[in-house]
Amino acid sequence: MTTLRLFEYRCWPQGHRFEASVLAQTYGDLLVRSVRPRSERVFRMDDPVREEMKSLLTELTRSEGLRLSNGEQRELFRFALSAVLDPDCNGSKFSVGRPPACPVCGSLEMEDWVSAEPPIIFDTELPLATHDDWDELEPSSRRERIRDVVAQKHKGIPRS
Ligand SMILES: [Zn+2]
Repeated sequence: MTTLRLFEYRCWPQGHRFEASVLAQTYGDLLVRSVRPRSERVFRMDDPVREEMKSLLTELTRSEGLRLSNGEQRELFRFALSAVLDPDCNGSKFSVGRPPACPVCGSLEMEDWVSAEPPIIFDTELPLATHDDWDELEPSSRRERIRDVVAQKHKGIPRS
């Protein structure tokens, strides 16, 4: 079960109003979206790929001599997650922190968003973010994929 909180959004520039939800309490879970409207999925805190990614990221940033703050590490993890999760049915990547796409015009830019008042909090079963492609990769290919992500995020590191 996932506990969500309802928000009201207004897209930019057309001003369509629509509702979408964010995680009410995260406990380390992450909500991901593609560019498709209503594409929310959840990446669970206890997904074993999380520890695998963390150790790869630690190893790679260390070997590149990068010193990252906790905030930068968290951001890098979120960025890397898009490269690990299976893409959506239309091929777009899932990302943490992506705004919901407007269901009318598809815009990903929002004029504003506010929590429904009084707050509307509800439990639902969101689909899990999958990583079947990743699971099929050899360890060396996984390492390469994460290395490319680190290189994209922290320029100056040669790509593999
Ligand atoms: Zn719109």
